[in-house]
Amino acid sequence: MLDAGRTPLRLADLSDPEPGPRQILLRVRACGVCRTDLHIVDGDLAQPKLPLVPGHQIVGEVLDDSSRFEPGTRVGVPWLGWTCGECRYCLTGSENLCDRARFTGYDIDGGYAELAVADERYCFALPEGYADEQAAPLLCAGLIGYRSLRLAGDSEAIGLYGFGASAHIVCQVAVAQGRRVFAGTRKGDAETQEFARSLGAAWAGDAAAGPPEELDAVIVFAPAGELVPAALRHVRKGGAVVCAGIHMSDIPSFPYELLWGERVIRSVANLTRADGEEFLALAPTVPVHTEVETFRLEQANEALDRLRQGALRGAAVLVP
Ligand SMILES: [Zn+2]
Ligand SMILES: [Zn+2]
Repeated sequence: MLDAGRTPLRLADLSDPEPGPRQILLRVRACGVCRTDLHIVDGDLAQPKLPLVPGHQIVGEVLDDSSRFEPGTRVGVPWLGWTCGECRYCLTGSENLCDRARFTGYDIDGGYAELAVADERYCFALPEGYADEQAAPLLCAGLIGYRSLRLAGDSEAIGLYGFGASAHIVCQVAVAQGRRVFAGTRKGDAETQEFARSLGAAWAGDAAAGPPEELDAVIVFAPAGELVPAALRHVRKGGAVVCAGIHMSDIPSFPYELLWGERVIRSVANLTRADGEEFLALAPTVPVHTEVETFRLEQANEALDRLRQGALRGAAVLVP
């Protein structure tokens, strides 16, 4: 549990969470570790509930009766935990932008725990054929990565800058769709570059320097603002640079010339339930294989440290 930003998580004995209206009680079987969790713990995101149980890629087993799921069903709980249903965004198919949205592991206690509660309307049925720890990264790294890929448009040559949990999933989807993937990593990170090539990337190298050819779009997963002007330099006229993370260091100023030519910069915020349904149906057909490193619940700080250092291959997942 997190007591305050910029402090390590603390192992705590909590009383069992009580489900509120429309909420179901879940036994957590696995919970993915997302870069957003790191931003919350590091104090980059200012408004988490405190104290907080982080974690928003929960694979859980339904423990009580609910109107949607039988007891014993395995469900996934994503970042989007609740929306108002009545604001202009909710009413126009953009619930990801809801003015009053509440997020799992931020406004609502999440899955770095043995038990969790979640609003059943925001839970997903999970595809069979994925072990719990393999399914967990699909719930944010996968979903939000997929939304980013969609918003990158009809790109044939696509850059993925920052090759972590999300990019390793998006790479597989993009390759299956017949796109060519250009994986940008930290300079000299031969291990991650090799990993990207093993997943079908046509090129892997230093993101700041960019690939040897012009791209149609770049998705920036790394929280490094300096990659935005770099990516603009690498995309063709009319191309897009999509920022997939919830937090990024400041983007340095750059000459207008880099944006000229109808290039577009946009961010991707959160997910809709429709994104989730669509991606979770697609993943087993690719099929997406997630590469995970598992940690015990009490090793959550270690998992976050490894993510902070860029030392993970694929995604970290906590198992109770
Ligand atoms: Zn709303
Ligand atoms: Zn996430």
